[in-house]
Amino acid sequence: MSASTGNGKAVPAAYPPPVDSPKEFVKRGLDPEDELIEVGVAIVGGGTAGLACANRLLQLLADDPALMERLGEVPVAVLEKAKTCGGHNLSGAVMRPGPLQELFPEMTREEWRKEGFAFGEVTKEAVYLTPTSKLKVRIPTPPPFKNHGNEVVSVSALARFQQRQAEEGGAYILTETSATQLIVEDGRVVGVRSGDKGRGKEGEQLGNFEPGTDIKAKATVLAEGCWGHLTGAAIREFDLADGREPQVWELGVKEVWKVPRPLDRLIHTVGPWPVKISARYGQVGGTWIYPMKDERTGDDLVSIGFVVGLEYADATTSPHDLLQLFKLHPLVRKILEGGERVAWGAKALPGGGYWSMPKLSMPGAVIVGDAGGMVDTAALKGVHHCIASGKLAAEAIYRGLKNGETSFESYEYAIEDSETGKELYQVRNTRQPFQKGFLKGGPLVNLAIASRGKLPPGRLKWHRNDEMPMFVGNTKDRYPRPDGRYTFDKLSSVFITGNATRDDAPNHIRVQKHVPREVAETWKWMCPAGVYEIPEDAPETGPVDVIVNYTNCVQCGAITAKGGRLTTPEGGDGPLYQIT
Ligand SMILES: Cc1cc2nc3c(=O)[nH]c(=O)nc-3n(C[C@H](O)[C@H](O)[C@H](O)COP(=O)(O)OP(=O)(O)OC[C@H]3O[C@@H](n4cnc5c(N)ncnc54)[C@H](O)[C@@H]3O)c2cc1C
Ligand code: SF4
Repeated sequence: MSASTGNGKAVPAAYPPPVDSPKEFVKRGLDPEDELIEVGVAIVGGGTAGLACANRLLQLLADDPALMERLGEVPVAVLEKAKTCGGHNLSGAVMRPGPLQELFPEMTREEWRKEGFAFGEVTKEAVYLTPTSKLKVRIPTPPPFKNHGNEVVSVSALARFQQRQAEEGGAYILTETSATQLIVEDGRVVGVRSGDKGRGKEGEQLGNFEPGTDIKAKATVLAEGCWGHLTGAAIREFDLADGREPQVWELGVKEVWKVPRPLDRLIHTVGPWPVKISARYGQVGGTWIYPMKDERTGDDLVSIGFVVGLEYADATTSPHDLLQLFKLHPLVRKILEGGERVAWGAKALPGGGYWSMPKLSMPGAVIVGDAGGMVDTAALKGVHHCIASGKLAAEAIYRGLKNGETSFESYEYAIEDSETGKELYQVRNTRQPFQKGFLKGGPLVNLAIASRGKLPPGRLKWHRNDEMPMFVGNTKDRYPRPDGRYTFDKLSSVFITGNATRDDAPNHIRVQKHVPREVAETWKWMCPAGVYEIPEDAPETGPVDVIVNYTNCVQCGAITAKGGRLTTPEGGDGPLYQIT
């Protein structure tokens, strides 16, 4: 691939991250028995999907003491890199309630709210076009945006609740623990290796150094969320993406506000403002504003966020600044004015849908939730799919272990036959037409929605996000100057996430450090945490050096879509989200 298109454009994929995945992230064979920890099922990732798998497995094992005993002292272990489960989880989030109700059938939705992870049922909703920075036009609610009866939740709080349930059921939850290597023996996944702790900037061992450990498991579940570190290694190792479309990503930035007046409806805006409508910019984005009533404190809260597809071409596209700009629209001002921002965060989500999903099982392991690409981005819905996939994986693993099997392939078929499989199939061609731009793609998107997936026929292609030629455009000229009260800069936003990355931690961001300005500007503007800087005296054109302030990173994952790689940081580093 040519590095530069010669007309002020550069392709991030031409500057791949210095990474050797098979060598670095796959460990061939286990350490000797007396140096490892043995568990029944190892679940990598304590988000909604991984914990749903743990919750369901423990329910099944509670009724099967013989199998529970066979799985040993630690029947189920969850490895989570955040300080606590939920610490790295962020979503909109309006959730279809069915799968959570099925997972905990004895609980009512009132009880969800008392537990502090649910914030009310959607009874009213509105969808707007925003033609300009002042105008709004209400449109009939398109089918993907119909949310009547759904529940507004915080996935961060939900994960904490699921963690408590899993611990009560007998799971061993290893927080502050990154899984850094997939262990493969005789063509089968036999566990994962946890990361070292206490290394310095250059990888040297500090006084508090603790080496990682091999965790041997009869079954391994990859529940790492968007672009998982080990999931990527597994996809390569077992050719799981063979014959599929490439995965693509979107990036969302979210704030939670405490507001003086309750918002009485759920709101979505579908643009075109504040993104540019011209196809040249390749920008497609939308927003949400969700009402949240905290039953425990009586506070009225609002979740507000901006999601942008990472297929864009203008390097100065910044989802964080677009959200700040969006807040200046009178529609939003009316809701937030007089309120106070109480949380901020950012996260990427997989956008490719059905055709980009990898094969979900391999010998010894399965993939659940966002790691498997199970998100319907037209409707911005993934939470219920994550819970459903975690539950189905648990059931397949339980059946497999009971029969002494090491393949859990039945999970793949269970997904295909489930509501999740059917829903994702129905919207399989819904998002791709936007690659032609908002105006050209819009009618095809509408056709896909109206025909419930029957049209356009066939399999629509995805282009890789990192192959989009980037140019330095002028989207940045629209961003407001932060006032620190209503609009905020990136660093003060990172500050309120409770980010606790050590100043002398090793760098977990892999990027080339000398790249064309177009690529460097892409990283600088895209990163919601202000990690990438270009020195002030760098040349206006041609290659520039990139400074990587990796301790600011909130591990959103977006860099992986645009030419870099987020690898696992030391366990415990990163944000500590509470209500995102
Ligand atoms: C901005 C945004 C808005 C959204 N809005 C909605 C919405 O309104 N409704 C909806 O239904 N869906 C929505 N979604 C999608 C939904 O949030 C996701 O589908 C879902 O939360 C993903 O859950 P998960 O458990 O698969 O992954 P995650 O929540 O990402 O959890 C993965 C966990 O694994 C941990 N982890 C990863 N790798 C490792 C490792 N190697 N070692 C140890 N731990 C590891 C991470 O720290 C994390 O806790 C939204 C997503 C985003 C990003
Ligand atoms: S450096 Fe961290 S926060 Fe910034 S884009 Fe990359 S993963 Fe996201």
